[in-house]
Amino acid sequence: MLSICVFCGSREGNRPEYSAAAEELGSWISENQCRLIYGGGSTGIMGRIADAVLDGNGQIVGVITEQLAQPELMHHGVSDMRIVADMHRRKAMMHELSDVYVTLPGALGTMEEFFEAAAWAQLTIHARPVAILSSGGFYAALTELLDAMVQADFLSVSCRRLIHVFSETSALCEWLAEQQRVLNQSA
Ligand code: AMP
Repeated sequence: MLSICVFCGSREGNRPEYSAAAEELGSWISENQCRLIYGGGSTGIMGRIADAVLDGNGQIVGVITEQLAQPELMHHGVSDMRIVADMHRRKAMMHELSDVYVTLPGALGTMEEFFEAAAWAQLTIHARPVAILSSGGFYAALTELLDAMVQADFLSVSCRRLIHVFSETSALCEWLAEQQRVLNQSA
């Protein structure tokens, strides 16, 4: 079973595309018998993706810190909720449980998680694929920055290619289906 680690915002953002992308991806995860690994929140698009997976009776693991494990922040529909001491342990557990990383729109927390996954791919600490969903063009500036890093010769072309950027959720889901096929073949 493909375990998909999703990093995304704890807020909804101000465009309907953001929540719509989270809901579409969550539905795809449950329909395709994959498993969502996420930060365990009930708020923002974190909450929306979890709701969509649960609506389809899909599988989820939430990994949340003691600090964030408050009744108003934690998702109560997620039965497999792992409560860990701090952000380092949270990310370590999310990495251990996952086969692939997907970053949806978000802010500082999302970027921190994305860059750790991408930087560790560059260092070959892991070999898990890394993807970004640029819903409504949200990550155009980030994509430009990554390309500028290549232009300035701070980032190699091969490392830039480790980060797969999708504009449409449907294209991301096709790519995830391919990751699922690869995983099943290697099992
Ligand atoms: P941001 O992109 O800044 O909204 O951060 C998203 C990240 O913030 C999550 O992955 C968590 O690390 C953290 N976070 C903030 N609020 C919550 C919440 N209600 N539940 C779980 N994690 C949260």
